[in-house]
Amino acid sequence: MPLLKVSIRQKTFDTTKGKVQALQDVSFQCKEGEFITIIGPSGCGKSTLLKAIAGLDTNFDGEIFLDGSEVKAPSIDKGFIFQEPRLFPWMTVEKNIASDLPLKKAEIKKEVERLIKLIRLECFEAAYPKELSGGMAQRVAIARALLRNPKVLLLDEPFGALDAFTRSHMQEVLLDIWQENRTTMLFVTHDIDEAIYLAKKVIIMSSKPGTIREIFPVDLPFPRKKSSSSFQEIRHLLLNKFEKVDELELVNSAGI
Ligand code: ADP
Ligand code: MG
Repeated sequence: MPLLKVSIRQKTFDTTKGKVQALQDVSFQCKEGEFITIIGPSGCGKSTLLKAIAGLDTNFDGEIFLDGSEVKAPSIDKGFIFQEPRLFPWMTVEKNIASDLPLKKAEIKKEVERLIKLIRLECFEAAYPKELSGGMAQRVAIARALLRNPKVLLLDEPFGALDAFTRSHMQEVLLDIWQENRTTMLFVTHDIDEAIYLAKKVIIMSSKPGTIREIFPVDLPFPRKKSSSSFQEIRHLLLNKFEKVDELELVNSAGI
């Protein structure tokens, strides 16, 4: 049985200008421990889809099942990482990670310490968010979600605000986390290299209305090298899928 089963027939928004159809026929499954990236042009419904899976929006025609139960509301077993880290400025790194959980409890303290090591922030446990770079703060947000042991971690363009070097580093850290923690990851991006580098499966979406165009397998072993010829070959194949004019924005952002 798949861990996650998404079957959205339709999702529309009522606006002052009438109905906006955001998603149509979006169906896929995700196995436990899988890393899937979702790529598509701006406005194709990526965030709408992730919010539906998170239970943040249940107003659509269709069903989503996580671990056999229908998703009806947000819960801690569905971790959500936004583009900005959303940390508490008055709390230290370790307190942000624990937030409402008791840091004094030995097993929580131990798990927070393990996660701080995993996100490569040793020596920063007592730092405050204002002392952290954007990449470091985002790693704290990821550790906070992981402490809740989510069944799935949903990431909505989490590295979109970071510079290219930090972004590459974050991709490596996230793969380390995935390999050690075995957390199921669903990661939205509009960066082609990022989509290929991280995932075993890339869901390609197209817009108007937002739908799945193709589910593209990435059969490259880890660790991957972006400059390798096999990586570049897959990149080329994927780029060829985005030939429509409304998708040029995506291609441009990938530096072509
Ligand atoms: P993406 O994340 O791929 O850029 P979104 O999921 O944010 O796309 O948006 C998909 C479509 O739904 C867009 O046309 C957007 O304008 C519309 N949309 C998203 N959220 C709302 C909302 N709360 N009200 C009305 N329209 C919305
Ligand atoms: Mg979005």
